[in-house]
Amino acid sequence: MKKLLIANRGEIAIRVMKTAHKMGIKTVAVYSEIDRNAPHVRFANEAVYIGESPSNKSYLLGDKIIEVALKMEVDAIHPGYGFLSENALFSEKVAKNGLLFIGPNAHAIRIMGSKLAAKEAVKNYDIPMVPGIDKAITDVKEATEIALKMGFPILIKASAGGGGKGMRVVEKVQDIASQMERAISEAESSFGDGSVFIEKYISSPRHIEIQIMADTHGNMIHLFERECSIQRRHQKILEEAPSVILTPELRAKMGKAALLVAKSCDYVGAGTVEFLLDKQLNFYFLEMNTRLQVEHPVTEFITGLDLVELQIRVARGEKLNIAQDSISIKGHAIELRIYAEDPLNDFLPSVGFLETYSPPTGKGIRVDDGFEQGMDIPIYYDPMLSKLITYGANRSEAIQRMIFAIDNYHIKGVKTTLPFGKFVCQHKAFISGNFNTHFVKDYYSPSLLQEDMKDKAALAALVALKLYLEDKAQLRIPSISS
Ligand code: ADP
Repeated sequence: MKKLLIANRGEIAIRVMKTAHKMGIKTVAVYSEIDRNAPHVRFANEAVYIGESPSNKSYLLGDKIIEVALKMEVDAIHPGYGFLSENALFSEKVAKNGLLFIGPNAHAIRIMGSKLAAKEAVKNYDIPMVPGIDKAITDVKEATEIALKMGFPILIKASAGGGGKGMRVVEKVQDIASQMERAISEAESSFGDGSVFIEKYISSPRHIEIQIMADTHGNMIHLFERECSIQRRHQKILEEAPSVILTPELRAKMGKAALLVAKSCDYVGAGTVEFLLDKQLNFYFLEMNTRLQVEHPVTEFITGLDLVELQIRVARGEKLNIAQDSISIKGHAIELRIYAEDPLNDFLPSVGFLETYSPPTGKGIRVDDGFEQGMDIPIYYDPMLSKLITYGANRSEAIQRMIFAIDNYHIKGVKTTLPFGKFVCQHKAFISGNFNTHFVKDYYSPSLLQEDMKDKAALAALVALKLYLEDKAQLRIPSISS
């Protein structure tokens, strides 16, 4: 592989390019109107304009991107995450045009892209599943009967769902009709597919996912778990590896189940199998994501492996030369997603001009970003600015480093999730490891965060006053002696 096109933008485009350059592979960026001067464009060896700013006129134009790839004579396309990464047709067309798609084949994407098809595929393997129905449903009467049999609360979910969209918790029978209507219309508008199904709502679960990697020769390994229970709107915001809750036995069991899920769809490449873990430590298969995940850096820290490098190697047909028992967990890593969102205002997007942008540096600190000072944050795309990842010999060191890194991350012009990340890292439930997906609901409120931020502001004012008085005292010396 000599040349790679990255069909993405922002931090993930740069992340992929870094590994490509390390491997001696040239890179081609694609960009939309608003991204003309974006860092990922400058980071690539070559860059090609593909269209207007809205993603359906640029980053989602599969045919256009393939056309560019052929013209630029690249060997492969890396889709990153989001955009075309889980588009089976795109993967198929890339292959048909004689190019390598860095990801699984269309068959696996098709199966795992639909939560219902995924359940169907893994049925014949010994994998525990969330109790629920295995077909799409639109009839409220039928849904009510199922829910009564299952027991409340239940969860109505979009089959094509992603990013926590099209998901509705129903606590009581009277709410089924209205919640179903909402879930169907949200699924239709977000995914163009209104199929919904019902799952038992697991009370207070943890979200634990397993990273897997498979080659074209039938070799498959798992790279342990990531704990992703700190979420808002059913979407991850802070992840860590390993999880404090997993024993070596449970880790091995979940790893084995994840590999079976991958086997059920003849998986090749990097993938993530997501599970819910209940209070009794029973785990249930949720879904499989057929791409590189946002949170992959925590796995890279604890395994010492470069996941993008492995993706490229298996895509070009190399054998995975890593045996399962040769990999082990070393240390602990935490990732905070820095979104341009206001944690004091329901995590609503806070796009605007990045007046100050200065990321932290230091031992055990990694920042994956695609923005820089003086840039506008486009309204067209995901509002994630960067990912702050810290690593330590143990969990407490990783947490301390995260707090230090947050304090030294300076962003002005937009609100971000940085103060929320600090709130989590200082919370006793998080520190003790005793938390679940309801962390935000159970422990977080804007007023608590405001208190924290006020304390920080007061402390900063005290430090400034102390420095001022010290300066003044020093300045007086010559005036007294003269
Ligand atoms: P998406 O594809 O939209 O991300 P997932 O199925 O991966 O949806 O679920 C996202 C999150 O929603 C989970 O991490 C969990 O917090 C919550 N969730 C999903 N299914 C259930 C369930 N059956 N019971 C309780 N919580 C659930």
